[in-house]
Amino acid sequence: MRLGIDLDGVVADFNSGWISRYNREFGTEIPFDAVRSWDAIPSLTHFRDMGEFWRWARDHDGRSMFRHLEPYPGAIEALWRLARRGHHIVVLTTKPRWAIHDTFEWIAEHRLPTREVHILDRKWEVDCDVYLEDAPHNLERLVRYRPDRIVARYVRPWNHPVEGAVDVESWDDFERLVDAAGADETYSGASGGGRVSPDGREEGDSK
Ligand SMILES: [Mg+2]
Repeated sequence: MRLGIDLDGVVADFNSGWISRYNREFGTEIPFDAVRSWDAIPSLTHFRDMGEFWRWARDHDGRSMFRHLEPYPGAIEALWRLARRGHHIVVLTTKPRWAIHDTFEWIAEHRLPTREVHILDRKWEVDCDVYLEDAPHNLERLVRYRPDRIVARYVRPWNHPVEGAVDVESWDDFERLVDAAGADETYSGASGGGRVSPDGREEGDSK
């Protein structure tokens, strides 16, 4: 199957990355788990808006913030297991123009098992069987424009349940979801509650 995989917040730990650099540069002690909503950054920092944040994020030792991010533990290993089982890893990531080359470098440095990378806003335009995403607005659009595909929300403190999306709380969960979809079985959900058929529709309401 074609697995459409987001990077930031799913494979790359964007928040720990910017927070550790911010704390070092400005002498603050923002905890790594401080981000609890999608637009939290200005409220946690001295930046008045995201424009100021992005201007700061653009140059760190000659590279953008994105070049310095660490992968989440186990993420890349899970992608390799999925690729070895015959799945096609399709990277779907949104980036500013100035981070495009850093993104390719990051993918190469960390040896992501992919030969298809899309850097774009409109992720639904790339047809995949399963999408894995953490951004609320992307989840909503994927569900709307790809209603016959499986859309998985990687559960993070900064997102919320999206109707039509399946919750996964770990890479193990995601592997189980993909295995169940490939075997035409049902996936019991991140919490073991509501059952979801391979087309992503909820079959029960217990959660
Ligand atoms: Mg993301």
